[in-house]
Amino acid sequence: MSIDKYRIKLGDRIDLSEWDPRDKSEFDGGKKAGIKATRPLNARLEALQELLYAESKHKVLIVLQARDAGGKDGTIRHVFDGVNPQGVKVASFKKPTSLELAHDYLWRVHPHTPASGEMAIFNRSHYEDVLVVRVHDLVPEKVWRRRYDHINAFEKMLADEGTTILKFYLHISKEEQKERLQARLDEPNKRWKFSSADLAERKLWGAYTEAFEEMLSRTSTDYAPWHIIPADRKWYRNYVISRILVDTLEGLKMRYPQPEEGLDDIVID
Ligand code: AMP
Ligand code: MG
Repeated sequence: MSIDKYRIKLGDRIDLSEWDPRDKSEFDGGKKAGIKATRPLNARLEALQELLYAESKHKVLIVLQARDAGGKDGTIRHVFDGVNPQGVKVASFKKPTSLELAHDYLWRVHPHTPASGEMAIFNRSHYEDVLVVRVHDLVPEKVWRRRYDHINAFEKMLADEGTTILKFYLHISKEEQKERLQARLDEPNKRWKFSSADLAERKLWGAYTEAFEEMLSRTSTDYAPWHIIPADRKWYRNYVISRILVDTLEGLKMRYPQPEEGLDDIVID
């Protein structure tokens, strides 16, 4: 599969109506085969993460953004199934607290970026500050509009300091969101996930589309590219993201650290 297909280059003008949320063109076969094909990728990711941790040189940051019920939680559960929790941390960004709001919007984000040898997954991120904040007019346009430049500069700094950044926008259709929200109502053990606020956000579908399009168009750099992942089919979403992660980590050419000399002669008594 070519990673490039779903990757956006800086300068691309993104029109999400041209991106099919049901696309599965990079996999010949259906759901069952797709799930099966993802399993060895999971195992590979597990091994690569161990190597990342052992080498302790690179830092890896994965950013997930999507609409409500877009599959961020499911992606984390499935794609990172099996990786050692010791080297992976997940940061979920909720509505900012009053302390967070009293600072600049990157203040709460920076402490969660990965250290050497670590992988950090952002479940929502600093991009909420050009998404929900824009759609709900939480700050004036003049204020959120200049944030694209701040964010690019922030990510450039992280990249210069050794961070590999991968950003995924999980692209679902309005129909699929309806089905997933309905399932949260219908299935007793999913009800805890239902929030009436999600219905209010759903009414703002078009405004969010514009906000996502501009975010994708303005902040997909070569050092921190966005990928638009067709996400109506969960198995395909997991397959594609796993492929991109494995390919990217393999590209880092990581090595286990040199062991001490003379280990062959050691006899433990
Ligand atoms: P959830 O991911 O379902 O737990 O919901 C988290 C909520 O926090 C979402 O409605 C987000 O839009 C909201 N949120 C996250 N970051 C911000 C932010 N910077 N400003 C306002 N709301 C935010
Ligand atoms: Mg929610």
